[in-house]
Amino acid sequence: MASSLVSRNHLTPRPAAASTASPCSARLAVRRARGLVGGVRCQAQASDMDGHYMRRCVELARKAAGHTSPNPMVGCVVVRDGRVVGEGFHPKAGQPHAEVFALRDAGDLAENATAYVSLEPCNHYGRTPPCTEALINAKVKDVVVGMTDPNPIVASKGIERLKSAGIDVRLCVDEEASCRKLNEAYIHRMLTGKAFATLRTTLSMNGVVVNHIGSGADQPGGYYSQLLKEYDGVIVSSNLAKTNTLPISHEAGAKQPIYIIIAQGENSQLNIPFLKEECASEAVVLTDTPISVEPAGVEVLVLDQMNLDGILQLLAQRGLCSVLVDFREVGGGIASLLNNFQDDKLVQKVVVELLPVWTVSKGPSDLAFGGSQSFPLKDVEHKEVNGCVLLQGYV
Ligand SMILES: [Zn+2]
Repeated sequence: MASSLVSRNHLTPRPAAASTASPCSARLAVRRARGLVGGVRCQAQASDMDGHYMRRCVELARKAAGHTSPNPMVGCVVVRDGRVVGEGFHPKAGQPHAEVFALRDAGDLAENATAYVSLEPCNHYGRTPPCTEALINAKVKDVVVGMTDPNPIVASKGIERLKSAGIDVRLCVDEEASCRKLNEAYIHRMLTGKAFATLRTTLSMNGVVVNHIGSGADQPGGYYSQLLKEYDGVIVSSNLAKTNTLPISHEAGAKQPIYIIIAQGENSQLNIPFLKEECASEAVVLTDTPISVEPAGVEVLVLDQMNLDGILQLLAQRGLCSVLVDFREVGGGIASLLNNFQDDKLVQKVVVELLPVWTVSKGPSDLAFGGSQSFPLKDVEHKEVNGCVLLQGYV
């Protein structure tokens, strides 16, 4: 008897500002088809709508990708009577947190509303006052958090503070994984004291490391341009810095990563021709022997031991959460840094670009047969099967 009532009830409270169809109504249709709903009030409504608004928080938070370190990316949505009345995200370190922007946006409508935040609100005075106080002062009724904050000075204290003020707090279990993925680098830095490292390389289709990136990859919308935008730093070899343009993201509003230039066994002088003098502060040279660097003004750090573990700790101390290790030459300075990366758990992620070419290589283990010339392959297709990426192309 109640199934039609249930469906009407739950089709009505659609969020006004939501751009997608109500997830609750869609799931209800499935449940009704399976005979799961009849006569029972929709148990799924709260969690479905929680997931819906939490996904919006993640979407908002990502607008500041690359800008927030050492802080996390955070988004916040304020909902009252099934309607979004305020939205905000943390734009960069030193600026107000997401909750403050969303509460400002909501104004008086925040009273008795539900605040969704992708990360547990802070409860300490940093460069800005605690967000818990802002939520309490705004008189919100409940708070839904995407994940607890691994930062030891926040960890669960924000939730405890809200609860002690009489605010209901719940975790959005369905979206916890996406909230954690959003801030994987921040979480890693908090838990390990090291920057989150992603190894990037380009291979030809016969598995040979190629010392350049694919055509269009660094143009606006290209994968490399988009990737750079997400990282606080990019580790490159001194060979690349000497001979090639340094990596730049061409995405609108992108904050460029800091260049970490690995100079092992360099002579007394390193010239970085593509780095303009006014941008000298955007690079740091890590070396095992004192050298002078052109342009002037580039910071040079002589390390006792040139290893990735120490470098990632150093970068984390400097507030970098994420670094891209741009690996282009098998014999270059970066190769030795990567010797034990898996055993020491120093690299968390790998991005491999495959070029549609068959490359001639000098390495004994490489597939160098097929003549003396590298050649492009045509009509390349790819698909993923059981975690394997399959490639095929025509000679
Ligand atoms: Zn805060």
